[in-house]
Amino acid sequence: MRLGILGGGQLGRMMALAARPLDIECLVVEPAPDPPAGPVAEVIAASYGDAAALAMLADRCDAVTVELEGVPIEALSWLAERVPVHPSPEFVAMAQDRLAEKRGLRALGVATAPFDAEAGLPAIVKTRRGGYDGRGQRFVTTAAELAQAQAELPDPITEGVVEFTRELSILAARGADGSVRAWPVVANEHLDGILRVSHAGTQVTPQQQVEAERIVTALLERYAVQGVATVELFDTADGLVANEIAPRVHNSGHWTIEGSTTSQFEQHVRAVCGLPLGDTGLVGHSVMVNLIGALPELAALLAVPGAHVHLYGKAPRPARKIGHVTLTGADAASVTEALERVRRLVP
Ligand code: AMP
Repeated sequence: MRLGILGGGQLGRMMALAARPLDIECLVVEPAPDPPAGPVAEVIAASYGDAAALAMLADRCDAVTVELEGVPIEALSWLAERVPVHPSPEFVAMAQDRLAEKRGLRALGVATAPFDAEAGLPAIVKTRRGGYDGRGQRFVTTAAELAQAQAELPDPITEGVVEFTRELSILAARGADGSVRAWPVVANEHLDGILRVSHAGTQVTPQQQVEAERIVTALLERYAVQGVATVELFDTADGLVANEIAPRVHNSGHWTIEGSTTSQFEQHVRAVCGLPLGDTGLVGHSVMVNLIGALPELAALLAVPGAHVHLYGKAPRPARKIGHVTLTGADAASVTEALERVRRLVP
C-alpha cells in the first residue's frame, strides 16, 4: 500500500515513520530542499500544486493526505477525482480561513471568540489565511490601532479577546466506518503564540472531556472526515470556546507517540487507509516539550529519566520547531520532576 502526503515537514516525517511498521510506503510532495520527511519517505521535490507531481500521486498512491492545511484546494480537488483524499477539500478549505472556520463552528453550536462587528476592544486582528504560530496577528487596544491593523493586515478578521484560564486541545480521529475515537484533552502552554509544552491527560472535569469530544465529533461528522483532526480550545468561566481547527495531526498530539496506545500518526494513517482505528487510552503520564530555535545538548536531554527525544533534521533558526521531547512515567510526580529538568535545559 502507498500513501501520498502533501507536505514533508516533521508531521509528514512522523506520519511516514508510523506507516512503516504497517508496510505502508509514503510518497511525499514537498518543495523545500532537504525536508524532514526526506530520510524516511520518497520525496517528489515540487510545489503542492505541481501538475506532474499530482499526477504521480494519483497514479502511484492508494490514498492521499496532507500534513498541513496550506495546500491549494484545486490540487486536492483534482486528486480527489482520481484517488481517495482525506481530509476532503471542503474540510481543508474551511480550516484555511479563520472566518469560514468560525462560521462552521457556530453552525455546529460551538462557541467561538466574538468576531468582526461583535469583537469590541481590546481585540486581536488576524489575517484570515496563512497565519500560524501567532504570525500575522496584532493585539490592539484603541480604535485607531484597530483601524490601522485592519488596513495593514491582508484580508483581516477581528476577534474579541477571550478571557481564559488555560488553553486546551482535543484530538480525535474518525474511521472509514464512521466511528470516532478521541484522546483525553490536552493542556497547552504557549509563549509568543508558539506551543511550548503539552500536558497529556490533564485535569479536566468529566463534563469538559464530554464537551470537548462533542465539539470534535460534531466537526468530524459534519465534514465526513476520515483521519485525525484537532480543535484548539480556551477554557473559560462560560465553558469551552473553540479557537482554531487543524484538519490534521497536531503538535499538541505528539505525546501520543509514547503516551497513548495508538499515536495520532498511526491513527491518521489507519483512518486514511481505511484500516480500523486503535485504542486511544493513556499509557502512564506524559508531557511534551517542543525544542524551538536551538537544540539543547542531546546527551543532557537523553539523561532525563523517561525522555523520548525526536529531532526533525531541521537547521536551527529562531522560533523554528526543530524537535520535541516527550517525558513519560508511571506516576505524575516523576514526570513533573523530569519536566523541571528539561525546562532548565531548553533555552
Ligand atoms: P492562533 O494563531 O489563533 O492559535 O493564536 C495564537 C495564540 O494567541 C493562541 O494560542 C492564544 O494564546 C492567543 N489568542 C488567539 N486568539 C485569541 C483570542 N481571541 N483571545 C485571546 N487570546 C487569543
